[in-house]
Amino acid sequence: MAANGAAKCKQLTSANIEQFLDSIDSVLIDCDGVLWNANNPIEGAIETIQTLRERGKQPIFVTNNSTKSRRQYVEKFQRLGFSVSEEEIFGTAYVAALYFKHKLKFEGKVYLIGGSGLAEEFALQEIPFIGPGCDHVVEGEDVHDWSNIELDSEVRGVLVGFDPLITFRKVCRAASYLSNPSFPYIATNLDGRLPMPNKGRVIPGTGCLVEAVTKAAARQPTVVGKPNKLMFECVKEKFPTVDPERTVMVGDRLDTDILLGKNCNLKTLMVLTGISSLEDVERNQQSSSESMQTLVPDFYIPSFGQLHKLINKQ
Ligand SMILES: [Mg+2]
Repeated sequence: MAANGAAKCKQLTSANIEQFLDSIDSVLIDCDGVLWNANNPIEGAIETIQTLRERGKQPIFVTNNSTKSRRQYVEKFQRLGFSVSEEEIFGTAYVAALYFKHKLKFEGKVYLIGGSGLAEEFALQEIPFIGPGCDHVVEGEDVHDWSNIELDSEVRGVLVGFDPLITFRKVCRAASYLSNPSFPYIATNLDGRLPMPNKGRVIPGTGCLVEAVTKAAARQPTVVGKPNKLMFECVKEKFPTVDPERTVMVGDRLDTDILLGKNCNLKTLMVLTGISSLEDVERNQQSSSESMQTLVPDFYIPSFGQLHKLINKQ
């Protein structure tokens, strides 16, 4: 039984779908675990995007995954059969570059722990950076050798995103730069794991890399990804007509997607094809903690791919 006043999460059904559609103009959609898992589209997701467009709803894609630039995302969407445009996509690589450029009005070089997607978005904003690629040679045998690691005197800030080439030396460098308290420390997101279809395998997410730098630097980062409202602010900046009251956030994670929706006063719709489960929702719904009850979406549907069937009454 839900506690008194507990938030209720309703399933979207043929009985309430029209009322739901009438209440929204824009649909913010997470990607991993909603539209696809790894390189496999969720069945029906392509048709759902089409149907939403036909019904006059604006889809906007918001992802914490920092491995790709918007251009690289368009390639992935198209390869998987989705029809999207670059301006509809907001990834943390893009949002982090905007944050440095417009919020921080950053001058100097960024030390960037991340890959080609981040490098591309920073280059497009004309923000100088160093860091992507291999940095794997640990020279010497002890702390006296490692403390001689060379630093770039033009670096004035650090960004940590997803980097499968993370090394001890990269963490040394990032933490050393951050010993200057005036240098900003930014992270793309704190997701602990990537959604993985293979049972028994765990793929660490960006949050694990951020933890390493945070511990070494003894500082906390500003996180630009969901659930930070910044993502939605970037959407609003590009599409000023987007009205929070008439927008729904669709996602598979309670602590990022659904919390972003709650933080921005959006409607929230959870899908069950990714990280969080209905059991997680029920646990939060029954909790007496207010912060846990915040992590209860307004609606759920087993799969985003089923939405077009509900809408088209199939
Ligand atoms: Mg997801």
